[in-house]
Amino acid sequence: METVLIVGAGHAAGELATSLRQGGFEGRIVMVGAENHLPYQRPPLSKAYLSGEVQAEALYLKPQTTYDKAGVEFIGSTLVEAINRSTKTVTLSDERTLRYDKLALTTGGRVRRLSIAGAKEAEGSNNFHYLRTIEDVRRISPQFQAGKRLVIIGGGYVGLEVAAVAIKRQLHVTVLEGAPRVLARVTAPVMSAFYEQVHREAGVELHTGVAVEGIELTPTGDAVTAVLCSSGLRIPADLVIVGIGLLPNVELAEIAGLVVDNGIVVDEFAQTSDPDIVSAGDCTNHPNPILGRRIRLESVPNALEQARTAAATICGKHRPHNSMPWFWSDQYDLKLQMVGLSEGYDQVVLRGDPAKRSFIAFYLKDGNVIAADSVSRPVEFMSCKRLVTERAEVAPSVLADESVPLKSLFALPAV
Ligand SMILES: Cc1cc2nc3c(=O)[nH]c(=O)nc-3n(C[C@H](O)[C@H](O)[C@H](O)COP(=O)(O)OP(=O)(O)OC[C@H]3O[C@@H](n4cnc5c(N)ncnc54)[C@H](O)[C@@H]3O)c2cc1C
Repeated sequence: METVLIVGAGHAAGELATSLRQGGFEGRIVMVGAENHLPYQRPPLSKAYLSGEVQAEALYLKPQTTYDKAGVEFIGSTLVEAINRSTKTVTLSDERTLRYDKLALTTGGRVRRLSIAGAKEAEGSNNFHYLRTIEDVRRISPQFQAGKRLVIIGGGYVGLEVAAVAIKRQLHVTVLEGAPRVLARVTAPVMSAFYEQVHREAGVELHTGVAVEGIELTPTGDAVTAVLCSSGLRIPADLVIVGIGLLPNVELAEIAGLVVDNGIVVDEFAQTSDPDIVSAGDCTNHPNPILGRRIRLESVPNALEQARTAAATICGKHRPHNSMPWFWSDQYDLKLQMVGLSEGYDQVVLRGDPAKRSFIAFYLKDGNVIAADSVSRPVEFMSCKRLVTERAEVAPSVLADESVPLKSLFALPAV
């Protein structure tokens, strides 16, 4: 019987496993994951799960019974440590060797760690945290209490979502961002300014353009007491959460001799440089035909879509991965939804008024819509997706005019 072995058990893995069955694969499917959990949703880790609104089991993408029914074997708390491509085997951390016919690498990423003086010592203390897994939140939760002083290092999505939840839970929150504005890598200044104002009005002490240069610990080193900035600022802390990005888990692939370049390099069919190995999710560097270049994305929609493509490839079907990147972030009562990549834009057009906490920023290049950030406009966001995918050419004054339905601006007739 043919065996598909899936390395990793995250969003991409969970989708890939069941898509294989839907695609008609009748052989053995084995999914090996480093964590002690079935594939689960990570987005709620900095939202509803951190706030205590949902339990860990509610995060699981699918219940155990779904994998049982699909005949997917799950090996948890186990690392795949090496791939031997000539014998088509992998070595596990429990020293077992497993054979495969097709291998799927869905290894995702790990948090980027702080690399300043004292960071290593801080990682050994009990109140210094990163946030990527259920276990991370379980360590944070007992300290995430009203009245505690939380310092968040990093003003990206994760940091700002944590800040919003912490404010709701009545912690004292300070956010430290090294760039001159929050969300600088992904949004226009107008969007950063909006979110900065929202957070400040909610009570967050937000510092941008600050370099964190040290972590102060108790004499025994068991707890962080303050975060030190190069400006001389010293911020006392009862707990620290760091959200400064992600590094793709590519080492396994690299050592096995696969082509790796800011991610495991795959084609539009999720095929790596080895015909018997596919890869999907945060760990891949893949071509996007709509954008006309390669990208590595960290987003759930991408992981799910690419996993379906990888499953189709294993099943001998051609299902190119060519969807427009999109992402969301929940902060307070606001739903931010973003589509396309805004880099290279030459004009930003606003539709609606940020003061009303519901608006869209369109990014234009040479008169074409290349990306859009929508704040609490989920219905119009559906039209944004289409306008961006079509690279619609629309006059800025028309985009901004709320009396003109976005649907009427599609290049092709709306269906
Ligand atoms: C706090 C937080 C909030 C987020 N919010 C959003 C959001 O709002 N919207 C959105 O679109 N995205 C969000 N994301 C990103 C999203 O969760 C990721 O894009 C998605 O999880 C990627 O799925 P993946 O399967 O590629 O990788 P992962 O989910 O990282 O899964 C990879 C798994 O593989 C395991 N693994 C790695 N190497 C090995 C090995 N050698 N052996 C065995 N197992 C291995 C890892 O331990 C991990 O469990 C968020 C992420 C975080 C952390």
